[in-house]
Amino acid sequence: MIIHLDADAFFASVEQAEDPSLKGRPVGVGGRMRGVVASASYEARRAGVFTPMPTAQALQLCPGLVMVSCDMAKYAVYSERMFAIAQDFTPLVERASIDEGYLEIRRWPCAHWAMGRGSGSGQVGVMRDAGDPGALLGLRAYEEAMGAAAALQARIQAEIGIGVSVGVAANKLVAQIAAKLNKPRALFGVAAGGESAFLAPLDVKWLPGVGEKLGRAFHSVGLRRVADVADASPELVRQVAGGQAAALQLFARGVDDRPVVVEEGEVKSYGRQETFAENVCSEEELVSVLRGMADELMHRVRRDGRTVRTLSVQVRYQDMSEATRSRTMEAGTDLEGDIYPLLGPLLREAWERRACVRLVGLRLSNPVQGPEQGELALGGAGSGGGGQGAGAGGDRRKQKLVASLLDQMRERELPLVRGHSLERK
Ligand SMILES: [Mg+2]
Repeated sequence: MIIHLDADAFFASVEQAEDPSLKGRPVGVGGRMRGVVASASYEARRAGVFTPMPTAQALQLCPGLVMVSCDMAKYAVYSERMFAIAQDFTPLVERASIDEGYLEIRRWPCAHWAMGRGSGSGQVGVMRDAGDPGALLGLRAYEEAMGAAAALQARIQAEIGIGVSVGVAANKLVAQIAAKLNKPRALFGVAAGGESAFLAPLDVKWLPGVGEKLGRAFHSVGLRRVADVADASPELVRQVAGGQAAALQLFARGVDDRPVVVEEGEVKSYGRQETFAENVCSEEELVSVLRGMADELMHRVRRDGRTVRTLSVQVRYQDMSEATRSRTMEAGTDLEGDIYPLLGPLLREAWERRACVRLVGLRLSNPVQGPEQGELALGGAGSGGGGQGAGAGGDRRKQKLVASLLDQMRERELPLVRGHSLERK
C-alpha cells in the first residue's frame, strides 16, 4: 500500500510552529511589501487569501494578515525532520517535493502501529470495496497502512508541530488525491478495488497532467468527470489529449503502476521507532519490541549486502524527554542473533529513569559494504553478548540459513511470527 504525505500550508505551518504567537492567526509567507503570498495559513485562507496572490491584495482582503518573509533554509530543516519520521515507518520513501512524498508500506513482520488519532479537526474517512470478500490479506495490508498513516500524522504533529494530510491507497494517484481532496489534516483511505469508484465523481482536473486548458477542452466535449473520461471512447480522449490519452484513460480508471522511487545514495543507518498507544512499563515487553525491530532492520541490512557495527537504543518518556545509548561492536554483523543479547543491557542503560515509556527505537549504524568476513567477525561481534555462537561455525551457518529463509518469507510478504512476537501480550 502507498501513503501520500503532504504537509498542510507547509511554509506557514513552519512559521507557526517556530513562533507560537502566530498560532491561530492568519499568516502569509512571501514578500512583505511587494511580491506574492507563497504560502497562506488556513486562517488566512478562510479570509479569502490564496496562493499565489499579490501581497497587497491579500492585505486588503485580510487586514490582520501577518506577513513573514520566506526562509527556505528553515523549511528545509523541517522537511528533513518530517521525512526522517517517515523513514521510521518504512525505508521506501520517495520525496516528491519539499513537503510531499510517498511511502510504500509492506507487511513488515513487526508492524504494530500505535493508532495515534489525527488531530481531530480533520476529515477521517474510509472507502472500502465491499464486493471482494476474498481480499482478506489485502484488507489487512490496508488496515496496517491506515494505522501507519494515522501514527505518521500524529507523530509529525507531536514532534515537529506541523499538520499534514495523509492518503492511503494501492497506488500513488489515488493516495495523492485521497489526501488532497480532504485537506487539511486529511486521513483518508481507499481500499484496493475501490479506486475507480472513488475517482469517478471528481472533476477531470484531478487527473495528473490535466491543467486549466486541457480541463476546458475535456469539458467542451462533455467529459467533465473522471468517470466520463474512463468510459469515453479512446478516439474521443485522443482527440482532446493527444499522446497523453492512453495514460490518462488508465488513470481515470484508477490504474497507476508508477513505483515509489527511493533516492539513491548512501544509507547511513537503519532505524525503527514505535510509539505506544499506552505507555509501556515492562522491560520484557520493550525487549521483545526491540527484538522484532532487530529482525526487520537486519533483513534490510542483508538485503543491502551490508553489515553494521553500531546499535543504539532510544527511549522516550511521557514528558517527551529522551535517552539513547549506543554500543559499537568490534566487527560488523548482519545477523539479528548477534545483537539480541545486547538489546536488554542497552535498554537498561538508556532507561535510567525507569518511568514508563511512550516510545522505543532501535538504530543500526556504521554500515560496512560487503558481507561479513567469514568466521573472523565472530570473535569480536560477541563483545558484551557472551560470545554467543562464537567458535561454533556450524551454528553460525545454521543461523545464516535461517536468516536467508526468513528473508525469503519477508520478500514474499508471508506472515511471520517469531517467539518474541508472541511475548507481546
Ligand atoms: Mg503541501
